[in-house]
Amino acid sequence: MFDAIERVPGDAILGLIQQFKDDPNPKKVDLGVGVYRDEDGITPIMRAVKAAEKKLIADEATKAYIGSHGDPAYGEHVLKMVFGADSPVLADNRASATQSPGGTGALRLAADFIASQLPGKSIWLSDPTWPNHLGVFSAAGLDIQRYPYVDEHNQLDFEGMAAALKTIPKGDIVVLHACCHNPTGFDLSAEQWQAVLEIVTERELLPLVDFAYQGFGNGIDEDAYGARLLAENLGEVLITQSCSKNFGIYRERTGCFIAVAADTEAMEDVRSQLAITARENYSNPPAHGSAIVATIFNDAELYAMWHDELAEMRGRINELRQKFVQGLEPHGLAERFAHVAQQRGMFSYTGLSKDQVETLRDEHSIYMVGSGRANVAGLNDANMEYVCNAIASVVK
Ligand code: PMP
Repeated sequence: MFDAIERVPGDAILGLIQQFKDDPNPKKVDLGVGVYRDEDGITPIMRAVKAAEKKLIADEATKAYIGSHGDPAYGEHVLKMVFGADSPVLADNRASATQSPGGTGALRLAADFIASQLPGKSIWLSDPTWPNHLGVFSAAGLDIQRYPYVDEHNQLDFEGMAAALKTIPKGDIVVLHACCHNPTGFDLSAEQWQAVLEIVTERELLPLVDFAYQGFGNGIDEDAYGARLLAENLGEVLITQSCSKNFGIYRERTGCFIAVAADTEAMEDVRSQLAITARENYSNPPAHGSAIVATIFNDAELYAMWHDELAEMRGRINELRQKFVQGLEPHGLAERFAHVAQQRGMFSYTGLSKDQVETLRDEHSIYMVGSGRANVAGLNDANMEYVCNAIASVVK
């Protein structure tokens, strides 16, 4: 029966990782991967995470199931991190947290919830967006539509975005990146979030805010600006959250699907459905990652340690962005790449063309995604000049 099954090409980014591994050039630079790297090119385990794990090993008393909604303590902590401890949304008890296997698991819960409970609604994604949005939403059978996010010069096209949002049929779902837009790095300003709020209110759209990088842009509270604005001012909002990046626990699969409803009654109705969606997908979420997060939040010392480490990671990325633009200054390219210093998060739409990306790879062993998306955290003091010189040679 399997002879009719066709082999499909692997993930383009995974192919790039293999090519990088096989490249013998000692100067090779990997700007393709999707994880944080420190100055030594390592994705470290955060000190607070390691300390929390030691505590967990000593204290853990059972491996019994944690339930379809996951660990309630984890859910409470995530709600406070996302909305702020004194949020009116929490005071009104209208937000439900369902722990999920990573942000991807939260997206799949959202997708299945929309497919089963809001049939006939299309889902609108920014163009470009994280490619797996397309995979997850189409796997759940949703109709996918796009709204523009960048212009022909690869700069944020907010006017185009706003104009497109104004044409979306009433009741459809619009996916917004809370911060650190993947793949572009272009985030919305406070005024632009306000404009989005006005449009979704007027058009009666349901926002799904994908929040995978809280704390990687400008700070934990700063990065939550848009998500909080929408949740405080709208009756209904969906949020998919991830602790993969801000706790550096990628492989522990730790996320949360948050449904904000008009009141507690409506929230409980939605929540009852989500338990079924979770059960039908994977029954219970994994427990280790959420236990790490809850342990850190429950311990003032560990929390302070984590908070500082997150600030270090954020500071490093934002400093690299500045240094990159400064490194291009002697080549007369600082203005052309000035947007890289304004962008936020791990990723940057550099504006390099597909051909330039290929030349960088073939002639300089610098690897990034064909769209010109670079992982800024792959830069460091040792490779910065080499990368800037190579970019200058391909754009001139
Ligand atoms: N949303 C976006 C925008 C992402 O970039 C990612 C991770 N690359 C995710 C969701 C999923 O995160 P996780 O690894 O927690 O599944």
